[in-house]
Amino acid sequence: MSINTVLGKCEPRDLNFTLIHEHLMAGMPGFEFDMAGFDRKRELAKVVEQLKEIKGLGVNSMVDPCPMELGRDPEFAAEAAEKSGIRIIIATGVYNEALGYPMHMRMIGPDDMAEIYVRELTEGIGKTGIKAGIIKTATGGVPGWTNDTAITKLEIKALRAAARAQKATGAPILCHNNELAPFGRETLDVFEEEGVDFNRVLIGHACGVGNMRYYFDILNRGAWLGFDRFGIEPIASDKMRLASLFGLLAVGFDRIMLSHDAVSCWLGRMTKGAEEMIKASPNWNYSHICKNIIPTLRQGGVGEEKIRRMTVDNPRSYFGG
Ligand SMILES: [Zn+2]
Repeated sequence: MSINTVLGKCEPRDLNFTLIHEHLMAGMPGFEFDMAGFDRKRELAKVVEQLKEIKGLGVNSMVDPCPMELGRDPEFAAEAAEKSGIRIIIATGVYNEALGYPMHMRMIGPDDMAEIYVRELTEGIGKTGIKAGIIKTATGGVPGWTNDTAITKLEIKALRAAARAQKATGAPILCHNNELAPFGRETLDVFEEEGVDFNRVLIGHACGVGNMRYYFDILNRGAWLGFDRFGIEPIASDKMRLASLFGLLAVGFDRIMLSHDAVSCWLGRMTKGAEEMIKASPNWNYSHICKNIIPTLRQGGVGEEKIRRMTVDNPRSYFGG
């Protein structure tokens, strides 16, 4: 099946080397009231420069699964794709209840939400004519920061909406699950009830969980694992992420995709939390996997075939190729 990129359709085989979870821009709801110093042209130029750098390192495609309320900007993404030559796929869907999930979406039913998602996947986002190519879901708050650290009824409703939009369109689902309280299994339980094909489901942010039972449960059910936060050291060190990755690869699991969850452009003023995260994470950018992680995998004996599987073949298969 064909894939919606921000510049039109492509086929799964066109994806080639794909970073499965990065952000061009992101802000927490309310950022729009704090945009006084924002220079769109300057930010776009910075993003394009970073995208050109990874193009030079062999990256072809990028998924930006920004939920609809965290600063998703289809036109910015289209300009960035056009100027850089990187294929970009953006998302429909909402963030978790603790940090996002617009009130309107809280107040409508799962089929109404699914209808909105399907419209964004088949007709376009707002009046832009630019279509989403993937469906985002998110569960769980942030332990120690938000009170809401269990999967919630509203999050389950959004999972059902995502499942129904997936079945109606074939688009894959990409799931955010907080590392300290990850609900990947519960997410799959809801999708199973809804009859979703797990080859279309990526359980994200798994690299920071560090729990083999969690990994085996998800992989044995046929879903994909996202090792998609390389470089965010305060959440989990790269050493820990790599220890899990080497272990899984060594025993024959390779239904894994790689990324950084890096953000090029922060919307609204930089918060203290984001500032500290960036300071403690010198390698948190789009190029870290190409420059450092893949060479480390090679040094550790991981063959080219497995590296290619995680970066090229798996994204193709996940998108229906
Ligand atoms: Zn993200």
